[in-house]
Amino acid sequence: MKKINNELVVKLAKDFGFDLVGFAKADILSDEILLYENWLRNKFQAGMDYMTKNIDKKKDLRKILPEVKSIISLGLNYYKDDNYSDIPSKSGKVSRYAWGKDYHKVIKEMLRKLEIRLKEIDKEFISISYVDTGPVMDKVWAVRAGLGWMGKNTNIINRNIGSWFFIANILCNYEFEYSNQIEDFCGSCNACIEACPTNAIIVPYVVDSNKCISYQTIENKDVISDQLKGKFDNWAFGCDICQDVCPWNIRFSEESPLPEFGAENKFLNYKEIQKMNEEEFNSKYKNSPIRRSKLKGIKRNLSFLFD
Ligand code: SF4
Ligand code: SF4
Repeated sequence: MKKINNELVVKLAKDFGFDLVGFAKADILSDEILLYENWLRNKFQAGMDYMTKNIDKKKDLRKILPEVKSIISLGLNYYKDDNYSDIPSKSGKVSRYAWGKDYHKVIKEMLRKLEIRLKEIDKEFISISYVDTGPVMDKVWAVRAGLGWMGKNTNIINRNIGSWFFIANILCNYEFEYSNQIEDFCGSCNACIEACPTNAIIVPYVVDSNKCISYQTIENKDVISDQLKGKFDNWAFGCDICQDVCPWNIRFSEESPLPEFGAENKFLNYKEIQKMNEEEFNSKYKNSPIRRSKLKGIKRNLSFLFD
């Protein structure tokens, strides 16, 4: 008799703090990989060369975990009900996901506890987990596991909490009852496409990273193209416009109770950052996702906005 089943995983995942849980069969991702390869052929990944690697693992999870049978997909709400109305002048906005502590650290700890508990219940349980890193198509598995549908802005939208949630996936050797996929509820809405200031959502469900403020302010290690000057709407780290305008977020967002996702870092001040040295920057942002851009990148972003 199986010691671990859907109900038990859902209960434990919720006990450890996850908001959403779904189950997908670890099938080979043929159709999704074709779409992804087409996206790569168009160079929409811009300078994110790592996205072109490990396609075989992305397609077939057996190349990561030979025993894999299922994916447990998990969502963690990070929404904080606050805005930028009180930020000082000459300050750039930070994407909501980066206002608080680095989610990788928070979620890895939650995953660690959950996986340890499952292994205690059945020592035959084998798993490996990922949060936003590794050769796993997070959003694809979240959709297959019924956490939500992929919106035209390419975020995963859940009918009860919108799209302000992180995704984590556990690959494991157990079989479950698999979740039903959620239909696409974008309908005739085009709010995200119309609101994007750089026209980065080139057609519904396709974002060209070259034009996306999130890519330019976080992942781009080079200069920012002058063609985008004046279009960043004061975003200095990431961009939330296509999520802010989404009716599912406007109606259904609920504040996360987790203190880790506060609003300590919702802006970056031009003068303060220009005066900072590496040590001060690394110390102030040591637990924050903002550190990913490094001081050099943040200075570049603020100069792009304000010089
Ligand atoms: S994150 Fe900003 S720039 Fe990127 S697609 Fe959304 S609205 Fe456009
Ligand atoms: S803004 Fe509208 S079209 Fe865009 S993701 Fe949300 S519901 Fe879909």
